[in-house]
Amino acid sequence: MKILFASSEVAPFVKTGGLGDVLGALPIELNKQGIDARVIMPKYGRIADEYKKQMEYITHIFIKMGWRSQYCGVFRLLYRGVTIYFVDNEFYFGGLDVYGKIKDDLERFIFFSKSVLALLPQIDFFPDIIHVNDWQTAIIPVLLKEQYKEYEYQKIKTVLTIHNLHFQGRYDIESISDLTDLEKRCFNKEGLEYFGDANVLKGGIVYADFLTTVSPTYADEIKMPYYGEGLDGLLNAKNGALKGIVNGIDYEEYSSNKDIFIEINFNKRNFASHKKQNKIRLQKDLGLNVNEDIFMLSMVTRLTNQKGLDLIEAVMDRICELPIQFVILGTGDAHYESMLRHYQYKYPDKVSAQIKFDVALSHKIYASADAFLMPSLFEPCGLSQLIAMRYGTLPIVRETGGLKDTVLAYNEFEHTGTGFSFKNYNAHEMLFVLEYALKTYNKKAEWHKIAQHAMNKDFSWQSSAKEYIKIYEGII
Ligand code: ADP
Repeated sequence: MKILFASSEVAPFVKTGGLGDVLGALPIELNKQGIDARVIMPKYGRIADEYKKQMEYITHIFIKMGWRSQYCGVFRLLYRGVTIYFVDNEFYFGGLDVYGKIKDDLERFIFFSKSVLALLPQIDFFPDIIHVNDWQTAIIPVLLKEQYKEYEYQKIKTVLTIHNLHFQGRYDIESISDLTDLEKRCFNKEGLEYFGDANVLKGGIVYADFLTTVSPTYADEIKMPYYGEGLDGLLNAKNGALKGIVNGIDYEEYSSNKDIFIEINFNKRNFASHKKQNKIRLQKDLGLNVNEDIFMLSMVTRLTNQKGLDLIEAVMDRICELPIQFVILGTGDAHYESMLRHYQYKYPDKVSAQIKFDVALSHKIYASADAFLMPSLFEPCGLSQLIAMRYGTLPIVRETGGLKDTVLAYNEFEHTGTGFSFKNYNAHEMLFVLEYALKTYNKKAEWHKIAQHAMNKDFSWQSSAKEYIKIYEGII
């Protein structure tokens, strides 16, 4: 079976969040399981030179974008057994940012999507399935069915994975129709039309042969108005072709016993003492009070409303009054960046706000902290809580989407659980559970038992990859 994944981000080449992690790991696992899975992504200016140097130029073609004809080169690189194709165009992808203004992003990713289809003969790879991801590549199923009538193309099936329904690629119909060359009838209510605009993700949902999202609970939630982002009606209609499959994490990258970024490696037996050594090192690096016993709470996140930053803001003083340290690594909304800087200024030996994107530091935090806070408003899957558990760092989460599916709440009577959770999107409910976690942390033996449960869980890609294969087999 031949699968071509198309995505706007793929780790380790470019990643801004979970989408990049998934694309950097799932194809590798599929290959291990006997599938010829390949990946195509834009050749961004910010891809590290070590990878650029290894890329091999294949050929180039030209793609029509409105009245202009745009150069479209294609390069190839073999990464951990997977062929990765890179679409080259300096005008669209030469800059350092992955995402920017929606108007520009629409043009760039429509160009990329058109390139994916146009390049199949050049790369000599006609897959059984093109697996597209989020709005940036969601126009591919539409273009394929509307504009490619040749047999090799018509037999290709499409799967669309929704990693986050919130981002949809919505813009005026005239611009999208100009960029895509789709016929006018495609922009009606049964097609891309959405409250008077064109919606690229909606187009993908309508045209794809199968839809997946990244956890079973999120697959249910998005069929309700509260989480459905205006598309719940359509998703209900597509219910028979929609499935939630929980993400895994890349065990090559996230394994406490061989992580190259952390002070000292550890395993399920020695984690209690070794995590402390990582903690001390991190405290020194970040200028916090050095204290191996203090409860270290952490976050590694985009700083947005989705991630529950408004809850944290509402009770931040109360959190800082607890006998804890709070380490946050993230970038995002300017408002939250300055809020966190303010609390670092107010509580300098307790709060460390690292406002940047830093993969190495993220590993150090996962390995050093005792608990990981993730009070999301909605969470399609969430990888951070999985990574945290893998390092024996207990997640404190809101019961939504993938957080609900992957974190089992601690039960002090049965001594079960892999973390802590609360139900309602409410700052004081979050604070209450945080205080409960802190109380539990002080019962050392009990805390270590929960951490061991968390570390024993299997979050590898093996079983999820099998579920994807079942879907592929069902549609070809
Ligand atoms: P989302 O995709 O919604 O941002 P996920 O939890 O699915 O959230 O994935 C987030 C990924 O991005 C994790 O691998 C996390 O460690 C990483 N990440 C988020 N913010 C940062 C940051 N500032 N620095 C380094 N890694 C980050």
